[in-house]
Amino acid sequence: MNRRTFFQKMGLGGIAVAAGTACTPHAYVDKHFNISLGKYRIPKLRLSLDRIVKETVGLRPFRASGPRLDCEMLGNKTIVHNYGHGGSGWSLSWGTGNIARQKVLATGERTVAVLGCGTVGIATARLLQESGCEVTIYTKDMPPNVTSNLATGTWSPASRVCDPAKATPALRQVWEEATRFSFKRYQFMLGLNDIACWVDEYNVYPDGIPAKPDAGSGAEVFDIPGILPERVRLTAREHPFRADYVTRRSNMMFNIPAYLHHHLSSFMLFGGKVKIREIKALEDIDELPEKTVVNCMGLGAKAVFNDEELTPVSGQLSCLIPQPEVQYKLITKGANLIARKDGIYLGGNGIVGNWDTTPSREQTEKVVTVLQKLMAEMRG
Ligand SMILES: Cc1cc2nc3c(=O)[nH]c(=O)nc-3n(C[C@H](O)[C@H](O)[C@H](O)COP(=O)(O)OP(=O)(O)OC[C@H]3O[C@@H](n4cnc5c(N)ncnc54)[C@H](O)[C@@H]3O)c2cc1C
Repeated sequence: MNRRTFFQKMGLGGIAVAAGTACTPHAYVDKHFNISLGKYRIPKLRLSLDRIVKETVGLRPFRASGPRLDCEMLGNKTIVHNYGHGGSGWSLSWGTGNIARQKVLATGERTVAVLGCGTVGIATARLLQESGCEVTIYTKDMPPNVTSNLATGTWSPASRVCDPAKATPALRQVWEEATRFSFKRYQFMLGLNDIACWVDEYNVYPDGIPAKPDAGSGAEVFDIPGILPERVRLTAREHPFRADYVTRRSNMMFNIPAYLHHHLSSFMLFGGKVKIREIKALEDIDELPEKTVVNCMGLGAKAVFNDEELTPVSGQLSCLIPQPEVQYKLITKGANLIARKDGIYLGGNGIVGNWDTTPSREQTEKVVTVLQKLMAEMRG
């Protein structure tokens, strides 16, 4: 390691800047960087099939034209739609919740029904409370029995959020507004028992830079430069993988069970009510006492509102027993992993139009095999 690199790793990049020297993007104090070894400390996974304690399949509510955020009248009731977030519902929940809130406030009504108790419904309900509304959530199921509880839980505001070929400039604008609002909101959740936190994210590609991902993959279809720290390509010396192309950046992660518990408890604390009720048809909405209703039923909105565009994109997660020293996210060809407090979640698939939520052992074996090979080839 030369003298300049050494000072950068030591976090003395600020001195270099003061002296008028350009600073590389990763020139900051970093507890994961082992100075004497000159590489990042990336603990290996204890990875075997017998350590998989849970397999789940969740259905992402995908709409090719993007989330539905318009209003419609049902008799004298205003329905504000807020559903169809694809693989981005966690990330966008506060942002689209804020858009829905503005539409609700414009009606003048302050007693509001929210349909659905997933991450989108809970965020929307909390925002409405913050604006002085009395909110009742009507829902078929509560956490943990919601799709939101079957997600990876990472900041991915443009993952399967639409088909880019169908995205209008208007959607792009609304998406950007929602993304920026959500991102800010998440910064106020840091430190709250890690319901949201920052983690290191590694992209590891053994065969060099991947081709641009197609629209069907979970890759982000839009980007706002400058929201997240840039990805930095690591030199072969700086990482332990046998791979030509490795990048690193910080990304946000959501500890899903604690997060849902926290926000639902806050909702109750501020006087919110939850009623278990299935909406089978529009008549059931008509019977609700509230005149303004926000529809956050995710995929459940399909049958009630006859939304032909709404379709599931199933995703399986296989959960390993937590390993406290493993605190990173990793993406490679055919698999990804994210280390949450409640487990290390392995995933990476998406089947468009699949309603089957039966986990497949074959899929688990596939991701375990990909990651086992990657771990076996790691140095150290
Ligand atoms: C494998 C996987 C990984 C994912 N990873 C991420 C990620 O890392 N980051 C990210 O941002 N997003 C991710 N997502 C996407 C995210 O999980 C969804 O976009 C999000 O959960 C949608 O939230 P929701 O509240 O709209 O829906 P849901 O969580 O499905 O909630 C819908 C609510 O409506 C209720 N409901 C439904 N039908 C009715 C009815 N007829 N009557 C009454 N109530 C009804 C349900 O009971 C539930 O309470 C992932 C999804 C999957 C499947």
